[in-house]
Amino acid sequence: MSNILEVTDLEVTYRSRSADLVAVQDVSFSVGRGELVGLVGESGCGKSTTINALLRLLPRAGRVTAGMALLDGHAGPLDLLSVDEKRLRDVRWRDIAIVPQGAMNSLNPVMPVGKQLADGVTAHRDASTPEVNERISELLNLVGLAEETTGRYAHELSGGMKQRVCIAMALMNRPALVIADEATSALDVIVQRLVAQTILDARDKMGTSFIVIGHDIGLMAQLVDRIAVMYLGRIVETGPVIDVLTDPKHPYTELLLASVPEVGKEAPAVQSGGLVASPVTGGCAFRERCPEAMEVCAAETPPVRRRSGGGEFACHLDRHG
Ligand code: SF4
Repeated sequence: MSNILEVTDLEVTYRSRSADLVAVQDVSFSVGRGELVGLVGESGCGKSTTINALLRLLPRAGRVTAGMALLDGHAGPLDLLSVDEKRLRDVRWRDIAIVPQGAMNSLNPVMPVGKQLADGVTAHRDASTPEVNERISELLNLVGLAEETTGRYAHELSGGMKQRVCIAMALMNRPALVIADEATSALDVIVQRLVAQTILDARDKMGTSFIVIGHDIGLMAQLVDRIAVMYLGRIVETGPVIDVLTDPKHPYTELLLASVPEVGKEAPAVQSGGLVASPVTGGCAFRERCPEAMEVCAAETPPVRRRSGGGEFACHLDRHG
């Protein structure tokens, strides 16, 4: 495999009392070695469901109903969606790790940080104490924290420090791919920059690939190489981050970008009224809110068009092609 991860036609369905709800549909994307890929979209668009499906961490009502997710792990390629539990345990944290949403609040309050980092290694493989200590020291240095942090408890750390401890924890076993789910949310802008720099340093010094989940387009622009924009369970546009942000092809991407406030300018007058269409009906899911919707948008699923320079977008409008 040339990529570290290749996701093809992922579909996730949630069971409810009245009907099954398809929450993620036809999601395909890849992550190259050492590449940073951003997954953006508003709350509820399916970003976290997508990565929870890859890690088999969906809640009880959710299940993968189609698709494949090939990961090139230490023991060769495997499909994360169908591999047995034993092999999956071997792969988690060694080949693919996650910094989950709200991770910094999940540190053990009664255990020093160093012990928690050490457990991250010894729970997954045999390692001597000197080896573990050396690894902890190396990673604290990478994430910009002092060695003394090992003796501190979570309540003694700031939000940014806790988040960097969580990134160090994800990197302990040198996974090839880390998923950072809203890793910079709930942090002030200066600390966000520090955490983003930590991710860039990990990529540059260890060659780690990242999937960065978030809704801060401005931060994504400075952090990732490629971006995938999700709306109501589908990827509506992908491409190199600069191309997508400077020349969006999909009306939803345009709307997302127009909603980013700029210093010194009046707040943008973004019209995003209309209801969110049901994902189980046909046509384009964005049609009720799209300022450029046409009759065909309600009747037919939008075709996927290629962007020049790489990437794709799904829309009936071809004036953008
Ligand atoms: Fe808008 Fe139609 Fe394109 Fe959907 S397919 S984004 S409704 S123009």
